[in-house]
Amino acid sequence: MNVLVINCGSSSLKFQLINSETEQCIAKGLCDRIGIDGSKLAYTPAGGEKEVTVTPMKDHTEAIRLVLEALMNEKTGVVKNVDEIGAVGHRLVHGGEKFACSTIIDESVIAAMEECNDLAPLHNPANLIGYYACKTLMPNTPMVGVFDTAFHQTMPEEAYMYGIPYEYYEKYKVRKYGFHGTSHSYVSKRAAELLGKDYSELKTIVCHLGNGASISAVKNGVCVDTSMGMTPLEGLIMGTRSGDIDPAIIEFIAKKEGLSIEEITTILNKKSGALGLSNNYSSDFRDIEDGYFAGHPDAVRTMKAYCYRVAKYVGAYVAAMNGVDVICFTAGVGENGPIIRTLVCEYLGYLGITINEEENKKRGSDYIISTPDSKVTVFNIPTNEELAIARETVRLVK
Ligand code: ADP
Repeated sequence: MNVLVINCGSSSLKFQLINSETEQCIAKGLCDRIGIDGSKLAYTPAGGEKEVTVTPMKDHTEAIRLVLEALMNEKTGVVKNVDEIGAVGHRLVHGGEKFACSTIIDESVIAAMEECNDLAPLHNPANLIGYYACKTLMPNTPMVGVFDTAFHQTMPEEAYMYGIPYEYYEKYKVRKYGFHGTSHSYVSKRAAELLGKDYSELKTIVCHLGNGASISAVKNGVCVDTSMGMTPLEGLIMGTRSGDIDPAIIEFIAKKEGLSIEEITTILNKKSGALGLSNNYSSDFRDIEDGYFAGHPDAVRTMKAYCYRVAKYVGAYVAAMNGVDVICFTAGVGENGPIIRTLVCEYLGYLGITINEEENKKRGSDYIISTPDSKVTVFNIPTNEELAIARETVRLVK
């Protein structure tokens, strides 16, 4: 079956068409600036050239229509008609406490998701727009929702509760949810598979270090803790997000700078993290890495604080699981930045971890980067959230 995987944001839409038998991506692309001037579609069939078409897209329905046209194009298309797409898998950000696994999307799911909109006001409505657009153009194709939060629903209460008045949990469901669950699930399972070990017998820490970054502890096949919180702002230092800070800083800066809570929250989401800490040097770790090697003080400070925070969370999760067998690095920074893996692992000598620097330099596939005598196996595993969504979609549709 061909599964169309859709990851829909407020003005963008990423897609991949995946053949579920071969698990290969047949075509992929991105619609950008939807509803804004200069919207464009980038489309790449497997083994073919990337084509970029600048064309107006007034809304997401128009974007999906153009995606379907590209997929069915006589010359560069990969399917003959819509019936060759057996199902659509939607990445959905926030399932609150209602969704502990993926689900076929129907009216009751939409209603339950709308109840979670408060928790993800930017992401959930955008995800649903993608669903409605697909439903309009492919009314007979089953649609599955795969939630970013679902994998983390197994966390015990002591891991997901905050030390604030309990009534906020009772009234508003304020608690830790965690994100990137599809990636944490895919990578932790892949590590077990590569080791030929039973997933339910391993203690694994997954460091998903992308533009957004989170880390999770997976014990005996279930997530027991993760660093992102009620929103993706908590935890690690990210590209532009602050991660953990003292909450009192918000009032302090608001008073000093005359800013509103909303303005500070925007700063914490968009102008902090590597970008802010590096004094606007860059949010991109390719630049931070170059600057670090060149000895630029803003890049050095950022790199050190970034890796320190990751190592600190690894330590916390070793405690949470009373041990660790496997540590995995994944996502844009985790997969491609050998220096980041080296600097993080330098803190972890107490766990008996030693890194093979030759293997650590490799990228693009699954690699064990620890030495054979290392007490913990350290992996570099490229994540594949789209494939994980396609697998879930097929499982539910069948
Ligand atoms: P997201 O899906 O959260 O947008 P990705 O997982 O695609 O992010 O990661 C994007 C980030 O990966 C970029 O911001 C960049 O900093 C980082 N990155 C990409 N290539 C490299 C590299 N060669 N070295 C270090 N960092 C890299």
